[in-house]
Amino acid sequence: MGLPGSGKGTQGKMLADINGMHLFSTGDLSRMYVTGERRQRMLAGELLDDSEVIAMLDRALKTVNDDDECLLDGFPRTVSQAQWLLEQVAAGRFSVSHVIYLVVTHEAVLNRLQARGRLDDTEKVIEARFKEYEKLTEPVVAWLEKRGIPVLRIDGERATDVVHRDIVSKLHLS
Ligand code: AMP
Repeated sequence: MGLPGSGKGTQGKMLADINGMHLFSTGDLSRMYVTGERRQRMLAGELLDDSEVIAMLDRALKTVNDDDECLLDGFPRTVSQAQWLLEQVAAGRFSVSHVIYLVVTHEAVLNRLQARGRLDDTEKVIEARFKEYEKLTEPVVAWLEKRGIPVLRIDGERATDVVHRDIVSKLHLS
């Protein structure tokens, strides 16, 4: 988890590569499957409906073997999505080992996002995505922590490889 531009995608790829894990990015799934008017809403910085994102992820997760480890990038982003995830845990479908939370300030990520050049990385849309994040996603961290999920808070403002090594060491992977 982390603000847009906090490095979720980059760190997710690096971690999944070294650890040999599946990587599910709900942003990438959305860019694969969401079309038409909903794609425009997405590009305006709005989150997609919980039911739509959950359905996409649910379908994708059904394709992996039972004992495989998965890394989720960009999910859960609302308390309802977190509720769904923990319902699956309660039903014995998954276990959740950690939440990796990349902590960054708005100022630090603004430049990164503008350099990235995605269509949803204009100043106005970034502002909307920050607002959505604060209203809907930020509360999810405490919500999950309260329910016993370990949250690793990682300073995401450092260089990519430094952040990566910090995550690896905090996960006790090396
Ligand atoms: P990302 O690539 O993670 O920045 O996601 C790009 C866009 O996809 C977001 O701005 C949302 O519109 C949508 N999206 C990705 N993940 C979710 C999610 N878990 N819930 C709702 N919308 C999502």
